[in-house]
Amino acid sequence: MKLSHRITHLTPSGSDGWEIFYKARALKAAGHDITELTIGEHDIRTHPSILGAMNTAALGGHTGYAMVPGIAELRAAVAARIEARTAVPTTADNIMITPGGQSALFASHHAVLDEGDVALFVDPYYATYPGTIRGVGGVPKSVPAYPENGFQPQAADIAAVAEGAKSLLINTPNNPTGAVYTRETLEAIAQTCRDHDLWLISDEVYDTQLWAGEHISPRALDGMAERTLVVGSMSKSHAMTGSRVGWICGPEAVIAHLINLATHTTYGVPGYIQEAALFALGEGAALEDEVSAPFKRRRAITERVLAGQNVVKASPIQGAMYAMLDVRATGLSGEAFAHELLETHHIATMPGESFGKAGAGHVRVAMTIEDERYAGALETLIAFASTKAGVSA
Ligand code: PLP
Repeated sequence: MKLSHRITHLTPSGSDGWEIFYKARALKAAGHDITELTIGEHDIRTHPSILGAMNTAALGGHTGYAMVPGIAELRAAVAARIEARTAVPTTADNIMITPGGQSALFASHHAVLDEGDVALFVDPYYATYPGTIRGVGGVPKSVPAYPENGFQPQAADIAAVAEGAKSLLINTPNNPTGAVYTRETLEAIAQTCRDHDLWLISDEVYDTQLWAGEHISPRALDGMAERTLVVGSMSKSHAMTGSRVGWICGPEAVIAHLINLATHTTYGVPGYIQEAALFALGEGAALEDEVSAPFKRRRAITERVLAGQNVVKASPIQGAMYAMLDVRATGLSGEAFAHELLETHHIATMPGESFGKAGAGHVRVAMTIEDERYAGALETLIAFASTKAGVSA
Protein backbone atom coordinates (compact mmCIF):
# COMPACT_ATOMS: atom_id res chain seq x y z
CA MET A 1 0.00 0.00 0.00
CA LYS A 2 1.27 3.44 -0.87
CA LEU A 3 1.51 6.10 1.80
CA SER A 4 1.02 9.79 1.12
CA HIS A 5 3.88 11.91 -0.19
CA ARG A 6 3.05 14.34 2.59
CA ILE A 7 3.90 11.88 5.36
CA THR A 8 6.77 10.04 3.69
CA HIS A 9 8.49 13.34 2.85
CA LEU A 10 8.00 15.01 6.21
CA THR A 11 11.72 14.76 6.86
CA PRO A 12 14.26 14.29 4.07
CA SER A 13 15.94 10.90 3.86
CA GLY A 14 19.48 10.59 5.13
CA SER A 15 20.86 12.41 8.14
CA ASP A 16 18.33 13.87 10.57
CA GLY A 17 21.09 15.71 12.44
CA TRP A 18 20.53 13.73 15.64
CA GLU A 19 23.20 11.03 15.08
CA ILE A 20 25.29 12.34 17.97
CA PHE A 21 22.33 12.15 20.28
CA TYR A 22 21.61 8.52 19.31
CA LYS A 23 25.32 7.64 19.51
CA ALA A 24 25.50 9.18 23.01
CA ARG A 25 22.42 7.26 24.12
CA ALA A 26 23.93 4.01 22.74
CA LEU A 27 27.18 4.64 24.63
CA LYS A 28 25.16 5.34 27.77
CA ALA A 29 23.19 2.13 27.35
CA ALA A 30 26.53 0.29 27.02
CA GLY A 31 27.47 1.55 30.50
CA HIS A 32 29.58 4.63 29.69
CA ASP A 33 29.30 7.78 31.78
CA ILE A 34 28.16 10.29 29.16
CA THR A 35 27.72 14.00 29.78
CA GLU A 36 24.71 14.95 27.69
CA LEU A 37 24.53 18.56 26.59
CA THR A 38 22.12 17.80 23.79
CA ILE A 39 18.49 18.05 24.85
CA GLY A 40 16.52 21.24 25.52
CA GLU A 41 14.87 20.08 28.68
CA HIS A 42 15.20 21.26 32.29
CA ASP A 43 17.06 19.15 34.83
CA ILE A 44 14.33 20.05 37.33
CA ARG A 45 10.86 18.56 37.13
CA THR A 46 7.45 20.28 37.12
CA HIS A 47 6.97 22.15 40.40
CA PRO A 48 5.09 20.07 43.03
CA SER A 49 2.56 22.89 43.49
CA ILE A 50 1.61 22.62 39.79
CA LEU A 51 1.30 18.86 40.13
CA GLY A 52 -0.86 19.44 43.22
CA ALA A 53 -3.20 21.65 41.19
CA MET A 54 -3.28 18.98 38.46
CA ASN A 55 -4.11 16.29 41.01
CA THR A 56 -6.85 18.36 42.63
CA ALA A 57 -8.38 19.11 39.23
CA ALA A 58 -8.28 15.46 38.17
CA LEU A 59 -9.79 14.23 41.44
CA GLY A 60 -12.33 17.05 41.19
CA GLY A 61 -13.65 15.55 37.98
CA HIS A 62 -11.84 17.46 35.22
CA THR A 63 -11.10 14.26 33.34
CA GLY A 64 -13.79 14.43 30.66
CA TYR A 65 -13.69 16.24 27.32
CA ALA A 66 -12.60 19.81 27.87
CA MET A 67 -13.71 22.76 25.74
CA VAL A 68 -11.90 22.42 22.39
CA PRO A 69 -10.53 26.03 22.30
CA GLY A 70 -9.42 25.73 25.92
CA ILE A 71 -11.21 26.41 29.20
CA ALA A 72 -12.44 30.00 29.42
CA GLU A 73 -10.32 30.84 32.51
CA LEU A 74 -7.07 29.70 30.91
CA ARG A 75 -7.77 31.49 27.63
CA ALA A 76 -8.48 34.65 29.63
CA ALA A 77 -5.32 34.21 31.75
CA VAL A 78 -3.13 33.75 28.66
CA ALA A 79 -4.76 36.78 27.03
CA ALA A 80 -4.14 38.87 30.17
CA ARG A 81 -0.51 37.70 30.33
CA ILE A 82 0.06 38.67 26.69
CA GLU A 83 -1.72 42.01 27.04
CA ALA A 84 0.31 42.84 30.16
CA ARG A 85 3.57 42.07 28.33
CA THR A 86 2.80 43.70 25.00
CA ALA A 87 0.10 46.32 25.64
CA VAL A 88 -1.77 44.91 22.63
CA PRO A 89 -5.48 44.55 23.47
CA THR A 90 -6.00 40.79 23.74
CA THR A 91 -9.06 38.80 24.79
CA ALA A 92 -9.85 35.13 25.23
CA ASP A 93 -11.15 35.16 21.63
CA ASN A 94 -7.59 35.80 20.43
CA ILE A 95 -6.37 32.64 22.16
CA MET A 96 -6.60 28.93 21.48
CA ILE A 97 -5.05 26.48 23.94
CA THR A 98 -3.03 23.75 22.20
CA PRO A 99 -1.24 20.54 23.18
CA GLY A 100 2.14 22.32 23.42
CA GLY A 101 3.98 24.73 21.17
CA GLN A 102 4.71 22.12 18.49
CA SER A 103 1.06 21.54 17.79
CA ALA A 104 0.59 25.33 17.73
CA LEU A 105 3.35 25.61 15.10
CA PHE A 106 1.66 22.95 12.98
CA ALA A 107 -1.81 24.50 13.32
CA SER A 108 -0.50 28.01 12.56
CA HIS A 109 1.11 26.89 9.32
CA HIS A 110 -2.00 24.88 8.49
CA ALA A 111 -4.00 28.08 8.87
CA VAL A 112 -1.96 30.20 6.46
CA LEU A 113 -0.50 27.86 3.82
CA ASP A 114 -2.13 26.25 0.83
CA GLU A 115 -0.57 23.26 -0.91
CA GLY A 116 2.72 24.31 -2.54
CA ASP A 117 2.95 27.71 -0.80
CA VAL A 118 6.44 28.84 0.16
CA ALA A 119 6.98 29.30 3.92
CA LEU A 120 10.12 31.02 5.16
CA PHE A 121 12.02 30.11 8.31
CA VAL A 122 15.32 31.29 9.76
CA ASP A 123 18.46 29.10 9.62
CA PRO A 124 19.83 28.02 12.18
CA TYR A 125 16.45 26.62 13.13
CA TYR A 126 14.64 24.47 15.66
CA ALA A 127 14.69 20.90 14.35
CA THR A 128 11.00 20.51 13.50
CA TYR A 129 10.50 23.70 11.47
CA PRO A 130 10.94 22.45 7.90
CA GLY A 131 9.03 19.23 8.63
CA THR A 132 6.17 21.18 10.16
CA ILE A 133 5.90 23.25 6.99
CA ARG A 134 6.08 20.17 4.75
CA GLY A 135 3.50 18.47 6.96
CA VAL A 136 0.83 20.95 5.89
CA GLY A 137 1.85 20.81 2.21
CA GLY A 138 4.06 23.92 2.28
CA VAL A 139 7.50 24.36 0.76
CA PRO A 140 10.11 25.37 3.37
CA LYS A 141 12.66 27.99 2.34
CA SER A 142 15.36 29.21 4.69
CA VAL A 143 16.65 32.69 5.44
CA PRO A 144 20.23 32.59 6.76
CA ALA A 145 21.13 34.34 10.03
CA TYR A 146 24.92 34.44 10.25
CA PRO A 147 27.13 34.27 13.35
CA GLU A 148 28.87 37.46 12.18
CA ASN A 149 25.54 39.25 12.77
CA GLY A 150 24.97 37.62 16.16
CA PHE A 151 22.56 35.25 14.38
CA GLN A 152 20.13 38.16 13.80
CA PRO A 153 18.45 37.78 10.39
CA GLN A 154 19.08 40.75 8.09
CA ALA A 155 16.36 42.58 6.16
CA ALA A 156 18.15 42.11 2.83
CA ASP A 157 18.42 38.34 3.32
CA ILE A 158 14.71 38.06 4.09
CA ALA A 159 13.73 40.34 1.22
CA ALA A 160 15.84 38.22 -1.15
CA VAL A 161 13.49 35.23 -0.69
CA ALA A 162 10.26 36.95 0.32
CA GLU A 163 8.79 37.47 -3.17
CA GLY A 164 5.90 35.07 -3.59
CA ALA A 165 6.27 33.54 -0.11
CA LYS A 166 3.25 33.27 2.17
CA SER A 167 4.68 33.24 5.68
CA LEU A 168 7.77 33.77 7.80
CA LEU A 169 8.53 31.82 10.97
CA ILE A 170 10.82 33.41 13.55
CA ASN A 171 11.90 32.41 17.05
CA THR A 172 13.13 34.80 19.69
CA PRO A 173 14.68 34.11 22.20
CA ASN A 174 16.21 31.63 19.81
CA ASN A 175 16.91 27.94 19.84
CA PRO A 176 19.64 26.98 18.94
CA THR A 177 21.59 30.25 18.89
CA GLY A 178 20.61 31.97 22.16
CA ALA A 179 20.05 35.21 20.21
CA VAL A 180 17.32 37.65 21.23
CA TYR A 181 16.17 39.69 18.26
CA THR A 182 16.67 43.41 18.64
CA ARG A 183 13.97 45.99 18.00
CA GLU A 184 15.82 46.89 14.79
CA THR A 185 15.76 43.28 13.58
CA LEU A 186 12.08 42.91 14.43
CA GLU A 187 11.12 46.23 12.82
CA ALA A 188 12.91 45.11 9.66
CA ILE A 189 11.12 41.75 9.77
CA ALA A 190 7.77 43.50 10.30
CA GLN A 191 8.45 45.86 7.39
CA THR A 192 9.29 42.92 5.12
CA CYS A 193 6.09 41.13 6.17
CA ARG A 194 4.02 44.22 5.40
CA ASP A 195 5.81 44.86 2.09
CA HIS A 196 5.42 41.27 0.89
CA ASP A 197 2.07 40.54 2.55
CA LEU A 198 3.51 37.72 4.66
CA TRP A 199 1.96 36.08 7.68
CA LEU A 200 4.38 36.17 10.59
CA ILE A 201 4.48 33.14 12.87
CA SER A 202 6.34 34.15 16.00
CA ASP A 203 7.58 31.31 18.19
CA GLU A 204 8.00 32.82 21.64
CA VAL A 205 8.22 29.67 23.75
CA TYR A 206 11.41 30.94 25.46
CA ASP A 207 9.99 34.36 26.36
CA THR A 208 10.68 33.89 30.09
CA GLN A 209 14.34 32.97 29.55
CA LEU A 210 15.83 36.35 28.85
CA TRP A 211 19.38 37.24 29.92
CA ALA A 212 20.12 40.37 27.90
CA GLY A 213 18.15 42.92 25.90
CA GLU A 214 14.36 42.87 25.89
CA HIS A 215 11.84 40.42 24.57
CA ILE A 216 9.72 42.18 21.98
CA SER A 217 6.75 40.35 20.59
CA PRO A 218 6.43 41.43 16.94
CA ARG A 219 2.63 41.30 17.29
CA ALA A 220 3.04 44.60 19.16
CA LEU A 221 4.68 46.36 16.20
CA ASP A 222 2.74 48.67 13.87
CA GLY A 223 0.20 46.89 11.70
CA MET A 224 1.38 43.45 12.81
CA ALA A 225 -1.41 42.20 15.12
CA GLU A 226 -3.57 41.42 12.08
CA ARG A 227 -0.89 39.28 10.37
CA THR A 228 0.90 37.66 13.33
CA LEU A 229 0.27 34.32 15.02
CA VAL A 230 2.17 33.99 18.29
CA VAL A 231 3.11 30.52 19.50
CA GLY A 232 3.46 30.11 23.27
CA SER A 233 4.00 27.18 25.60
CA MET A 234 4.19 26.20 29.26
CA SER A 235 6.95 23.68 28.41
CA LYS A 236 9.99 25.91 28.88
CA SER A 237 8.56 28.63 31.12
CA HIS A 238 7.17 26.24 33.73
CA ALA A 239 9.12 23.00 33.14
CA MET A 240 5.88 21.41 31.91
CA THR A 241 7.33 19.73 28.80
CA GLY A 242 5.44 16.48 29.39
CA SER A 243 2.11 18.14 30.11
CA ARG A 244 1.74 19.32 26.50
CA VAL A 245 0.10 22.68 26.94
CA GLY A 246 0.64 25.83 24.91
CA TRP A 247 -1.33 28.33 22.82
CA ILE A 248 -1.75 30.36 19.68
CA CYS A 249 -2.54 34.05 19.93
CA GLY A 250 -3.88 35.70 16.78
CA PRO A 251 -6.73 37.57 15.13
CA GLU A 252 -10.18 36.35 16.27
CA ALA A 253 -11.18 35.20 12.79
CA VAL A 254 -8.06 33.05 12.48
CA ILE A 255 -8.59 31.58 15.95
CA ALA A 256 -12.15 30.65 14.95
CA HIS A 257 -10.77 28.59 12.03
CA LEU A 258 -8.08 27.10 14.25
CA ILE A 259 -10.74 25.94 16.70
CA ASN A 260 -12.43 24.18 13.80
CA LEU A 261 -9.08 22.54 12.96
CA ALA A 262 -8.63 21.47 16.59
CA THR A 263 -12.10 19.93 16.56
CA HIS A 264 -10.90 17.75 13.71
CA THR A 265 -7.44 16.95 15.11
CA THR A 266 -6.50 17.24 18.78
CA TYR A 267 -9.95 17.85 20.27
CA GLY A 268 -8.31 20.11 22.81
CA VAL A 269 -6.15 19.65 25.88
CA PRO A 270 -7.14 17.63 29.00
CA GLY A 271 -9.01 19.77 31.55
CA TYR A 272 -6.80 18.82 34.50
CA ILE A 273 -3.70 19.89 32.55
CA GLN A 274 -5.34 23.21 31.71
CA GLU A 275 -6.29 23.73 35.38
CA ALA A 276 -2.64 23.09 36.31
CA ALA A 277 -1.49 25.60 33.67
CA LEU A 278 -3.98 28.14 35.00
CA PHE A 279 -2.61 27.65 38.52
CA ALA A 280 0.98 27.98 37.23
CA LEU A 281 0.27 31.23 35.37
CA GLY A 282 -1.42 32.54 38.51
CA GLU A 283 1.86 32.13 40.38
CA GLY A 284 3.25 34.90 38.17
CA ALA A 285 6.86 35.82 37.51
CA ALA A 286 8.15 34.33 40.79
CA LEU A 287 7.62 30.77 39.57
CA GLU A 288 8.88 31.58 36.06
CA ASP A 289 12.06 33.04 37.56
CA GLU A 290 12.56 29.97 39.73
CA VAL A 291 12.25 27.70 36.69
CA SER A 292 14.66 29.76 34.57
CA ALA A 293 17.21 30.43 37.36
CA PRO A 294 19.44 27.40 36.61
CA PHE A 295 19.96 28.59 33.02
CA LYS A 296 20.74 32.09 34.16
CA ARG A 297 23.41 30.68 36.50
CA ARG A 298 24.88 28.45 33.79
CA ARG A 299 24.96 31.29 31.33
CA ALA A 300 27.21 33.10 33.85
CA ILE A 301 29.27 29.90 34.25
CA THR A 302 29.67 29.69 30.47
CA GLU A 303 30.96 33.26 30.29
CA ARG A 304 33.34 32.67 33.21
CA VAL A 305 34.77 29.41 31.84
CA LEU A 306 35.17 30.80 28.32
CA ALA A 307 36.90 33.97 29.47
CA GLY A 308 40.65 34.21 28.98
CA GLN A 309 40.90 31.98 25.90
CA ASN A 310 40.25 32.56 22.25
CA VAL A 311 39.79 29.14 20.74
CA VAL A 312 36.12 28.59 21.61
CA LYS A 313 33.91 31.65 21.27
CA ALA A 314 30.32 31.85 22.46
CA SER A 315 27.84 33.78 20.43
CA PRO A 316 26.17 36.21 22.88
CA ILE A 317 23.87 34.12 25.08
CA GLN A 318 20.97 36.54 25.33
CA GLY A 319 18.17 34.08 26.02
CA ALA A 320 16.97 30.45 26.13
CA MET A 321 18.86 27.47 27.53
CA TYR A 322 21.62 27.08 24.96
CA ALA A 323 25.10 28.31 24.19
CA MET A 324 26.18 28.27 20.54
CA LEU A 325 29.94 27.77 20.57
CA ASP A 326 32.10 28.74 17.61
CA VAL A 327 34.78 26.04 17.18
CA ARG A 328 36.02 27.11 13.75
CA ALA A 329 39.48 27.86 15.18
CA THR A 330 39.99 24.09 15.49
CA GLY A 331 39.66 23.68 11.73
CA LEU A 332 36.95 21.08 12.32
CA SER A 333 33.33 21.21 11.25
CA GLY A 334 30.84 21.28 14.11
CA GLU A 335 29.94 17.73 13.19
CA ALA A 336 33.52 16.39 13.28
CA PHE A 337 34.17 18.29 16.52
CA ALA A 338 31.06 16.88 18.20
CA HIS A 339 31.79 13.29 17.10
CA GLU A 340 35.39 13.41 18.27
CA LEU A 341 34.51 15.10 21.57
CA LEU A 342 31.96 12.38 22.24
CA GLU A 343 34.32 9.56 21.30
CA THR A 344 37.33 10.85 23.22
CA HIS A 345 35.75 12.62 26.21
CA HIS A 346 32.21 11.24 26.38
CA ILE A 347 30.66 14.69 26.11
CA ALA A 348 27.68 14.96 23.77
CA THR A 349 26.95 18.28 22.06
CA MET A 350 24.83 19.07 19.00
CA PRO A 351 26.70 19.99 15.81
CA GLY A 352 25.69 23.42 14.51
CA GLU A 353 25.16 21.80 11.11
CA SER A 354 22.16 19.88 12.53
CA PHE A 355 20.36 23.21 12.72
CA GLY A 356 21.12 24.36 9.20
CA LYS A 357 23.92 25.77 7.09
CA ALA A 358 24.43 29.02 9.01
CA GLY A 359 25.37 27.10 12.17
CA ALA A 360 28.37 25.40 10.48
CA GLY A 361 31.55 25.28 12.55
CA HIS A 362 29.60 25.57 15.79
CA VAL A 363 28.32 23.21 18.45
CA ARG A 364 25.23 23.84 20.54
CA VAL A 365 25.53 23.15 24.21
CA ALA A 366 22.32 22.77 26.23
CA MET A 367 22.84 24.26 29.69
CA THR A 368 20.71 21.54 31.17
CA ILE A 369 22.93 19.67 33.62
CA GLU A 370 24.01 20.41 37.18
CA ASP A 371 26.30 23.47 37.53
CA GLU A 372 29.58 21.87 38.55
CA ARG A 373 29.39 19.08 36.03
CA TYR A 374 28.42 21.65 33.39
CA ALA A 375 31.46 23.81 34.18
CA GLY A 376 33.73 20.75 34.10
CA ALA A 377 32.36 19.64 30.73
CA LEU A 378 32.96 23.10 29.28
CA GLU A 379 36.54 23.10 30.58
CA THR A 380 37.13 19.72 28.95
CA LEU A 381 35.57 20.97 25.71
CA ILE A 382 37.90 23.98 25.68
CA ALA A 383 40.96 21.83 26.43
CA PHE A 384 39.98 19.49 23.59
CA ALA A 385 39.45 22.41 21.20
CA SER A 386 42.77 23.96 22.21
CA THR A 387 44.63 20.73 21.46
CA LYS A 388 42.94 20.56 18.07
CA ALA A 389 43.81 24.18 17.35
CA GLY A 390 47.40 23.61 18.45
CA VAL A 391 47.07 26.13 21.28
CA SER A 392 47.98 25.35 24.88
CA ALA A 393 44.83 25.78 27.01
N1 PLP B 1 9.77 25.96 19.57
C1 PLP B 1 11.06 25.87 19.93
C2 PLP B 1 12.02 26.89 19.44
C3 PLP B 1 11.51 24.81 20.75
O1 PLP B 1 12.80 24.75 21.10
C4 PLP B 1 10.57 23.84 21.16
C5 PLP B 1 11.00 22.69 21.97
O2 PLP B 1 12.16 22.43 22.20
C6 PLP B 1 9.23 23.98 20.75
C7 PLP B 1 8.87 25.05 19.96
C8 PLP B 1 8.17 23.00 21.10
O3 PLP B 1 7.94 22.94 22.46
P1 PLP B 1 6.62 22.33 23.08
O4 PLP B 1 5.89 21.60 22.01
O5 PLP B 1 7.09 21.42 24.17
O6 PLP B 1 5.85 23.50 23.59
